[in-house]
Amino acid sequence: MGKVLIIGAGGVGTVAAFKVAQNSDVFTDIMIASRTRSKCDAIVKAIGNPDIKTAAVDADNVEELVALFNSFKPEIVINVALPYQDLTIMEACLQCGVNYLDTANYEPKDVAHFEYSWQWAYHERFKEAGLTAILGCGFDPGVSGVYTAYAAKHYFDEIHYLDIVDCNAGNHHKAFATNFNPEINIREITQKGRYYEDGKWIETEALEIHKPLTYPNIGPRESYLLFHEELESLTKNFPTIKRARFWMTFGQEYLTHLRVIQNIGMARIDEIDYNGQKIVPLQFLKAVLPNPQDLGENYEGETSIGCRIRGIKDGKEHTYYVYNNCSHQEAYKETGMQGVSYTTGVPAMIGAMMFLKGLWRKPGVWNVEQFDPDPFMEQLNKQGLPWHEEFDKDLEL
Ligand code: NDP
Repeated sequence: MGKVLIIGAGGVGTVAAFKVAQNSDVFTDIMIASRTRSKCDAIVKAIGNPDIKTAAVDADNVEELVALFNSFKPEIVINVALPYQDLTIMEACLQCGVNYLDTANYEPKDVAHFEYSWQWAYHERFKEAGLTAILGCGFDPGVSGVYTAYAAKHYFDEIHYLDIVDCNAGNHHKAFATNFNPEINIREITQKGRYYEDGKWIETEALEIHKPLTYPNIGPRESYLLFHEELESLTKNFPTIKRARFWMTFGQEYLTHLRVIQNIGMARIDEIDYNGQKIVPLQFLKAVLPNPQDLGENYEGETSIGCRIRGIKDGKEHTYYVYNNCSHQEAYKETGMQGVSYTTGVPAMIGAMMFLKGLWRKPGVWNVEQFDPDPFMEQLNKQGLPWHEEFDKDLEL
């Protein structure tokens, strides 16, 4: 049915490639391209399908991307490189008539700043070109937006309160490691917190607000309020929302390491001079931390990510909790990657499948909640991320 190009050969790219290869009725022609070609070849070997093509590409370079797109001629690109590459890949898509999907919004390298404006600015150009761009199609952002759209479609006349809750109750047996790209992860967590209330954004100190929340099959875990990019699009696309927040769990050990990393300047993203060479401390730190791709083997426990929603249906207040629990070991057995890569790579594949099946196809730049959630929800159950619902229970929030 379709030709797909996956850009990025990290943890998420590996899972996306496995899942794309499993759905060969939809994805008939596959290429994996990344900065380091040997990593793409290793994924092909792990999957065991020599028909999957590989290529080296510097996705910061529009000309290189254009040359690659013109030779392979994909219908859609799954961008699971880093957020820094979003705009160059979107630009190349426009030049070559290719549709686009990613899992993280654009960030400039020199400021850790998360907002959709840079990518939303491409809306008219994608629309005029008749091309679809699907933004933020991992788990959060991604499934969190699909869950919200599903709740709005089936269970609420108005959503008033939305809390996205993200728990990783896994143990990888390392003193400190991040579950996805350390540079992107640490930039996100060390930012000031922010949430939406009554039409305004309220800023907090980093990790200032926290409380224990109870996660299914896991129990209570201290959860910290963070800003997360889908809050921006969800409050815009569901204007009845009065308050929207995002919570993520962290263990004490992780937070202690993070504090030390910050206090000694290793989280800095500006260039410093080291023995006559310019280095960015956070990029150097990434090079010495465990590779998120290598965490899977000894990872135990599970993740639990969901949406806790309060709103009105037929004049009455209701609550709704929809979530997925994902076992790190099960993810590892299937793809060789841990649960965080798995929960991101599977939805990225499903988004591309929705496009190729013609179910999520409309010219312009869209966030996932702007498409029909039903076929996506159906695929989540089939592709390894089953979801569960709880109605009218205490949401703790
Ligand atoms: P990794 O660091 O493991 O992988 C990133 C990959 O991109 C690497 O293969 C890297 O190549 C490649 N890459 C980096 N720069 C370039 C470039 N200029 N040109 C070509 N390739 C490049 O990250 P993850 O797999 O953990 O994460 C991938 C994406 O998924 C990130 O954007 C992350 O923010 C997002 N994500 C989204 C989540 C969600 O739920 N929405 C959750 C988790 C992650 P090399 O190996 O050579 O460095």
